[in-house]
Amino acid sequence: MLDKELIRKVALSSGADDVGFGDLELFDDAPPDMDPRYIFPRAKSIIGMLFRIPRGVQRGIEEGTQFGQYPSLAYGNINEIFAPVVLYEVGKLIEDHGYEAVVYRNTGGRGPVSDMTGEKGSTLTPEEQIEIDAEIDTDKQRSSKKTPLHRNVKSTRPVSPENRAPDLQFHFRIAGVICGLGEIGWSKMFLSPKFGPMVRFAYILTDAPLEPDPMYDGEPLCKRCMACARECPGNCISTDTTKSNKINIGGKLIEWGEIDTWKCFVYYTFPGRKHDPFIPTEVFEENKDGKLAILEKEGVKSGEEETLNVYRTLEGYFPTWMGYNMAKCGGCIGACVNMLEKKGCLKDKFNEPFRTTRKRWEIDR
Ligand code: SF4
Ligand code: SF4
Repeated sequence: MLDKELIRKVALSSGADDVGFGDLELFDDAPPDMDPRYIFPRAKSIIGMLFRIPRGVQRGIEEGTQFGQYPSLAYGNINEIFAPVVLYEVGKLIEDHGYEAVVYRNTGGRGPVSDMTGEKGSTLTPEEQIEIDAEIDTDKQRSSKKTPLHRNVKSTRPVSPENRAPDLQFHFRIAGVICGLGEIGWSKMFLSPKFGPMVRFAYILTDAPLEPDPMYDGEPLCKRCMACARECPGNCISTDTTKSNKINIGGKLIEWGEIDTWKCFVYYTFPGRKHDPFIPTEVFEENKDGKLAILEKEGVKSGEEETLNVYRTLEGYFPTWMGYNMAKCGGCIGACVNMLEKKGCLKDKFNEPFRTTRKRWEIDR
């Protein structure tokens, strides 16, 4: 007989690090374009599987000596290889018992509304835009080309009046809350009581009736210490508690700080002269045509064009790996792991703390 414990057991033995079962009715207040029930209207349950990112994947970033493991092992491997295999195994188990398993891996930024701006538009990320730009010969051609909004699908439309436009994506972190796997911190990162922010997700929607798990109701994991904001090289996370985002999920208040997502898009890949060892100093000094303004000057407004200016200017110094950018900022995740360990939220997991008292590195230039 198929039940939660069998699913949990198979998911864990296949490689998931935590498993939770969510109540689909808790998506009642989600925007329809992000409601997973449009993907599988007969679904009775959502199963969340959480995959931990080994703490040591951050080590090279902490020391400033190795940055490639995070995008390749933590993002690329889990999203593209590891989690899909577990989805496949658990999906087979469910279907062997006569229920359908709609497996949903992390597809990232390809929905009808942008995960950057919430607007409708087209499908490119800045990296892809640069590839297209490379095929455009002249500035005139480039300026005549309307820059797309990226991060979403351009001409998508509902296939019937009662449907939503494809490709529907739901909010993975909110689904994680609904499945009882943890909460969302001030940095908008998902925080697991077991692994802090070092996690990724995959989901299954199924018509198997499975009792939902309670949402996480332990001691709040996020201590509002604002270390994530302090250690962000681009000051992308606001500390202004009057401007936070708040949502209510089944009586549970979820709150996170205002994030400048375009600025983060710049800084996590190209974190400026103090934190980017791959860019020669003279490139910052020259700041050709002012294209690095967002990195070099205080208070420059962020947006798509400013982001593209930086990517176009610096992309050649360190190309994208495996379709995922190198996260060189080393900011909010490392800061949060460090704080959660110090505050005892992730206690007793490691023999040695994530960080010693040594100050975080900064290039002197
Ligand atoms: S660093 Fe502090 S404020 Fe930021 S998400 Fe983590 S616990 Fe919350
Ligand atoms: S990922 Fe990096 S750039 Fe983005 S908010 Fe976190 S620390 Fe800042």
